Amino acid sequence: MKKWKFSTKSVHIGNDPDEKTGSVSVPIYLTSTYEQDAVGKDRGYDYSRAVNPTRERLEENIAALAGGQFGIAFASGMAAITSIFQLLKFNDHVVISRNVYGGTYRLVKQVLNSQGIDFTFTDTSASEAVLSAIRPETKMMFIETPTNPLLELSDISLLAKICEDHNILLIVDNTFMSPFGQRPLSLGAHLVVHSSTKFIGGHSDVLGGIAVTSDENLGEKLRFIQKSVGAVPSPFDCWLLIRSIKTLPLRAIRQFDTAQQLAEKLSTRKELSRIIYPGLPVHPQHKLAKSQQLDPSGKPVFGSMISIDMGSIESRDRFLKRLKIFILAESLGGVESLVSVPYVMTHGSIPPEEKEFLGLTESLVRLSVGIEDPEDLWNDLETALTDSSG
Ligand code: PLP
Repeated sequence: MKKWKFSTKSVHIGNDPDEKTGSVSVPIYLTSTYEQDAVGKDRGYDYSRAVNPTRERLEENIAALAGGQFGIAFASGMAAITSIFQLLKFNDHVVISRNVYGGTYRLVKQVLNSQGIDFTFTDTSASEAVLSAIRPETKMMFIETPTNPLLELSDISLLAKICEDHNILLIVDNTFMSPFGQRPLSLGAHLVVHSSTKFIGGHSDVLGGIAVTSDENLGEKLRFIQKSVGAVPSPFDCWLLIRSIKTLPLRAIRQFDTAQQLAEKLSTRKELSRIIYPGLPVHPQHKLAKSQQLDPSGKPVFGSMISIDMGSIESRDRFLKRLKIFILAESLGGVESLVSVPYVMTHGSIPPEEKEFLGLTESLVRLSVGIEDPEDLWNDLETALTDSSG
């Protein structure tokens, strides 16, 4: 079974036909509790916050795809990230990527800081910055690569080495690449986390989060936090994710491929003051992207997120108004192409001066490329661009 390739695993791991009925589709165990045969004698299941057979199937499947041993599912990406930070204690310190998802930033600044956990937002793409941020109390490094929405990359293997030398846990938020496009555990990370709301779910219809590790001790601690904190997904949400993962490789191949085509075309347009896509040779970390972001066959892949700067708020708004296929909405990674303005949407909780320091401008537009026909998508962008210059 271990020899199976990614697409086979995505369809079959955790998805054995139901023993009793032969049902090929995983049953949804919609139960909160389970009959016990005697006091203290259950059949492996006692209460659904602690354990649920549908959730177990999902956890087994994603753990295999991420290349880990233990998968722990949560009700959303933020529930997973919050639970991971519950591994920390009062006075612990975390080095965190300076350009993380706005919700992670908000959690840090408005929840965790006041609970006595200290964070240093750092340019984790620069090893000198990382080394100078580390202190004796540093227990964790939390990185996003590529980051949302500036698509900055951090070198996972290099950071894993630094973390090993300093006895620090390395956590990678791999939401932007999905397990199909990057597997941080194989590069030395201790724990990988995904908002499964994005590529893993892929249809903009379910919220979810998943953490995967190969470290048994870490896996047990997180499983305990999952049960104790209780931010668990419903059995139906688990089933939706199991169903969606079967097509993850097909969707990712199509989305990544179309994004590359669109980014190349966009890079020739004079209307844009900036285009950011790791698959373009002009991206400052294109070389790292080529060595780190690999599909399961080892081919470099660059994701389906493109950020473009329209130069002004007026051009941005004209562009957004003219788009017919790209839907103005938060989120990413789904089959439908979406467009967003991170400054006011996903990164609204970050103070303006910090956004400006990072280069996250008000005119920056983030595209999430879906599975629609590439030519239709280009026509949509081209028409809107042509009309956006006024
Ligand atoms: N991490 C990243 C990189 C994200 O983009 C998001 C959401 O956009 C999250 C985590 C949070 O996930 P969720 O919305 O499922 O809570």
